[in-house]
Amino acid sequence: VATAPVLVVHGGAGAWQPELLGAAANGIHAALTAGWERLRDGTAVDAVEAAVAALEDDETFNAGRGSCLTSDGRVQMDALIMDGGTLAAGAVACVERLRNPVRAARQILEHSPHVLFAGADAERLAEQLGLTLCDNEALITDRQRRRLSDSQDTVGAVALDAAGGLAAATSTGGMAGKAPGRLGDSPLIGCGGYADNEAGAASTTGWGEAIMKLLLAKWAADRLRVGIAPDRAATLAIDYLQRRLNGSGGIILLDRDGGYAAASNAPAMPWGVKTARQELVQELQGELA
Ligand code: ASP
Repeated sequence: VATAPVLVVHGGAGAWQPELLGAAANGIHAALTAGWERLRDGTAVDAVEAAVAALEDDETFNAGRGSCLTSDGRVQMDALIMDGGTLAAGAVACVERLRNPVRAARQILEHSPHVLFAGADAERLAEQLGLTLCDNEALITDRQRRRLSDSQDTVGAVALDAAGGLAAATSTGGMAGKAPGRLGDSPLIGCGGYADNEAGAASTTGWGEAIMKLLLAKWAADRLRVGIAPDRAATLAIDYLQRRLNGSGGIILLDRDGGYAAASNAPAMPWGVKTARQELVQELQGELA
């Protein structure tokens, strides 16, 4: 049965500087365009990979080049991609030297019997799987070096394709000033993202130490599984994050029927959605905060 494709992306929930929100909206539009291109003739997995790679390429966002820095001045990134049809997943944690960690995650999903690789071995594996490594310095922008941004602006995407397949992807530079070696919720299945064709797809952003304890993406997907509407499930998830751990963050959700929602209690979260009929780019402002 053919379904109507839907693509939803977010640019991270955090303390966005007002002057960056215009660039963020442009980046969300570009990511929707790149992902939609793949959704027309490809799968939901292709679409979320393309959308997240576009956001990684845009230094406005805290993923790929433009990632925030560790306390010792390095870029260390996490990414996850998951196929809701097979529950296949690939992820990298604490990787340097990769312009597009989500593409490394996709190669792992396709070619490895394992799911999550970390550090230098993950970088070597990505190279073996066809990705080009760069100098880690090439991922550092002046804005991050000057610490003008202390926001946590992970990127993510969820998609539903014409065959009913769901997918999710999330990519991040983590939290500014984090300890070297720290990994957050983003590369962890069920925390930074989740996709199951029998439930829904989710990508989360925000304070990773809280999100991972609540398995927030899986928690929200399980509400979709039992028929709770996406906007209700998204609001419940952010309410849970705030109530249980006083956490701040955001989530995008997509259900099996193409119903979607975004929610956040952070100062701002740029996000957008594209369907055959419309494209919407918006900025959520801390509704529960
Ligand atoms: N969740 C990410 C992390 O803790 C940060 C973010 O979403 O902004 O690494």
